[in-house]
Amino acid sequence: MTTIDTAHLAAMFAAIADAMSADRDRLCALDGVIGDADHGIAMELGFSAARDAVAALNAGTTEPTTLLNTAARSFLNAVGASSGPLYATAFMRGAAAVKGKTTLDEADMVAMFQAMAKGIQDRGKAETGEKTMMDAWAPAATAAGEALAAGTGLAGSLAAAAEAAKAGAEATKAMIATKGRAARLGERSLGHMDPGAASAVTVIEAMRIALTG
Ligand code: ADP
Ligand code: MG
Repeated sequence: MTTIDTAHLAAMFAAIADAMSADRDRLCALDGVIGDADHGIAMELGFSAARDAVAALNAGTTEPTTLLNTAARSFLNAVGASSGPLYATAFMRGAAAVKGKTTLDEADMVAMFQAMAKGIQDRGKAETGEKTMMDAWAPAATAAGEALAAGTGLAGSLAAAAEAAKAGAEATKAMIATKGRAARLGERSLGHMDPGAASAVTVIEAMRIALTG
């Protein structure tokens, strides 16, 4: 039986921040091809700020909703790029999905995960196929729900999400960007992986390892 508390969530943000630091240069290089080469820096800054802000909370008295809203605010303040409001909205929606709970079971966690994906969708208005982070987040959210319904538990659910995100990010190579900075390139965006989809894989994989690995 999975029980995630605020200490687990704080550890999750620390793990994502570490993963972003490790992945920063690759993400900047991907963004350098179809964007402005700052995506790795933005993600590292955002998750470092979120990690520091949630670490400063009193774990014993803080609820998951407060922690996630704190992460959202600090991410937004730290990041000027378009990934800032997208991930801030993800965490705010994740916070709303678990409002009133002191600990989270596997169904709560998957609901939080799916709310994050929905938040990115609502904020950015990107549909799948437009070569954005949605191409990783949308199939990941669907796969997480299906795996949970099939009885795999949180570990199986996040593993399925990570697999689906990876496939989704890979698929962005064959897409022409119609949202974000890369849209200006049109057909010249073909053949390159979207940096936001690539970083989504890293985020989701770090969540999986931190929470169930
Ligand atoms: P910026 O483009 O402002 O420099 P980043 O480099 O941090 O921001 O992030 C770029 C990524 O943001 C893109 O690779 C894409 O995945 C994602 N993105 C951009 N616009 C949208 C949108 N409307 N919806 C979802 N994701 C988007
Ligand atoms: Mg950029």
